[in-house]
Amino acid sequence: MRVANRKRVLVTGGAGFLGSHLCERLLNENCDVLCLDNFYSGTKDNVAHLLNNPFFELIRHDVTFPLYVEVDEIFNLACPASPIHYQWDPVQTTKTSVHGAINMLGLAKRTKAKIFQASTSEVYGDPEVHPQPESYWGRVNPIGIRSCYDEGKRCAETLFFDYRRQHGLEIKVVRIFNTYGPRMHPNDGRVVSNFIVQALRGEDITIYGDGLQSRSFCYVDDLIEGFMRMMASPQEVTGPINMGNPDEFTIRQLAETILAMVGGTSKLVFKPLPQDDPRQRQPDITVARTVLGWQPQVRLAAGLEPTIAYFREVLDLGGKG
Ligand code: NAD
Ligand code: UDP
Ligand code: UDP
Repeated sequence: MRVANRKRVLVTGGAGFLGSHLCERLLNENCDVLCLDNFYSGTKDNVAHLLNNPFFELIRHDVTFPLYVEVDEIFNLACPASPIHYQWDPVQTTKTSVHGAINMLGLAKRTKAKIFQASTSEVYGDPEVHPQPESYWGRVNPIGIRSCYDEGKRCAETLFFDYRRQHGLEIKVVRIFNTYGPRMHPNDGRVVSNFIVQALRGEDITIYGDGLQSRSFCYVDDLIEGFMRMMASPQEVTGPINMGNPDEFTIRQLAETILAMVGGTSKLVFKPLPQDDPRQRQPDITVARTVLGWQPQVRLAAGLEPTIAYFREVLDLGGKG
């Protein structure tokens, strides 16, 4: 039976990095949370601390199969996010984005739930426009090794907008840019996790190329605040809306900052730059600022602190660094 005033919220991919933070936030806001995950790239560890909460329910399920539950809101986050994870089983990656979107949209249609899609800056592909506004259509290779992710997410966006036009669904689409924080995967090959793990282990810090390429990193708490504002926005706000932190750093600056914070003896070493590595990526968040009054609050050093503490704990290095 439904408890009065407690919103029933489904989070797909809820045992992942972003999903676990979102579940926590929703519980803090007195929601009844249904966390769905097939543990492809997420783990029970990420939500173990929530299992005793009577308003938290964890179900093992693959979004590519239908799901019949009664909910008021759906956050659709299920999808591996780092190249190492999504390229491991590319067909399953496309299925997760496309069949997953169809099932969750079908569920939203039947239950009249509001539905949120975690899209990505990767829909812009290798862009000719910097920074990328939402109106930019992108430059994506349809047959390359990243296509399972990029095109899967693009097709999911198409489905969201067609379900809105055809069936009147209330949709919320957010394009997420590089985000970091506790519960990132230590082995996902991303620059923030790589550098922190290398620094903590006293290994060389691997800079690809000259390290002068730049990225913008958003702390997870800022992003989740953006998700909450988006879900609570008026019906006509559908997105897509970019979310990320526009503060730009070179990869070398990131390495030096992490090294200074961790201490230790790691040296910077230079490795070949991967193919198609973008020189620069920065979100244009004018729309999120104007429409949602949202912008990131956490500076890089402030966000790196809890992230480093998290990795110290999971790598079991105690206080040794
Ligand atoms: P993550 O890998 O930690 O989380 C994804 C979760 O989805 C995992 O728990 C995984 O087990 C689950 N999952 C995968 N396939 C599934 C399936 N078929 N059925 C059910 N569950 C499934 O990654 P994340 O960083 O938390 O990303 C969450 C969402 O945000 C993803 O959709 C991702 O594309 C998007 N995103 C993340 C970032 C970022 O910087 N972290 C950037 C852009 C977009
Ligand atoms: N679906 C689901 N849960 C529901 C309703 C639908 O998983 O509560 C799935 C269903 O399996 C279907 C998909 O969502 O394949 C799309 O549903 P829709 O109603 O749009 O299409 P149809 O059922 O007409 O194919
Ligand atoms: N990078 C690096 N060393 C690493 C991992 C990544 O120099 O150990 C670089 C990578 O070449 C890219 C940037 O850091 O220029 C960001 O890489 P990531 O995979 O985190 O994100 P994306 O390229 O998708 O923005």
